[in-house]
Amino acid sequence: MTILVLMGPPGAGKGTQAEMLAERLGVPAISTGDIFREQVASGTALGQQAKGYIDAGEYVPDSVTNAMIRERLCADDTRSGFLLDGYPRTLDQVAVLDEFLAGQQRFVDGVIVLDVHVDELVARLLNRAALANRSDDTEPVIRHRLKVYTDQTQPLIEVYAARNLVTTIDGTGDSAEVSQRILSSSVALQQTN
Ligand code: ADP
Repeated sequence: MTILVLMGPPGAGKGTQAEMLAERLGVPAISTGDIFREQVASGTALGQQAKGYIDAGEYVPDSVTNAMIRERLCADDTRSGFLLDGYPRTLDQVAVLDEFLAGQQRFVDGVIVLDVHVDELVARLLNRAALANRSDDTEPVIRHRLKVYTDQTQPLIEVYAARNLVTTIDGTGDSAEVSQRILSSSVALQQTN
């Protein structure tokens, strides 16, 4: 049973590393951003609720996000564990996740924080904007997303650090180098042994 949380600011490379690590561990990578974008693309009620927030670089309200993740975590493929990419991002979400897991006698095994300097983040996101056509990858929205991360999500690192769960990984360099750092850290070793 492996339950890991991948944290880091927008542009830190969470999505890429989540996929890599999830495959290694044989558990699903669950990205709230990807789920929201799929819902927006298919025009569901949830997508319609989320779209305005995403485009503005704001967090989708906790009530909406928590309901969505609860449902996702009830799927069968999470039985042997899962890796969360982009959740929790608020203190309320931490509380909901704790409560959900406690109800199943499960708990978070580790939190990986990808650390990248802000100038590098902006450069990466602008570069992605040119390639990926994401509605929230314009410069003013990127800057706002970084601020929202600092204000609302960075404090969560302290919460998990107080539980001795945090491993900080240098997220600079190419994605293969970052993967290597994650795999040689104690978090990954502990889980794959
Ligand atoms: P990034 O990490 O680059 O901001 P994501 O794809 O993880 O990109 O998220 C994109 C957007 O989806 C966020 O800006 C937010 O609007 C919404 N979102 C994703 N995860 C959450 C969450 N846990 N709580 C609230 N909103 C979220």
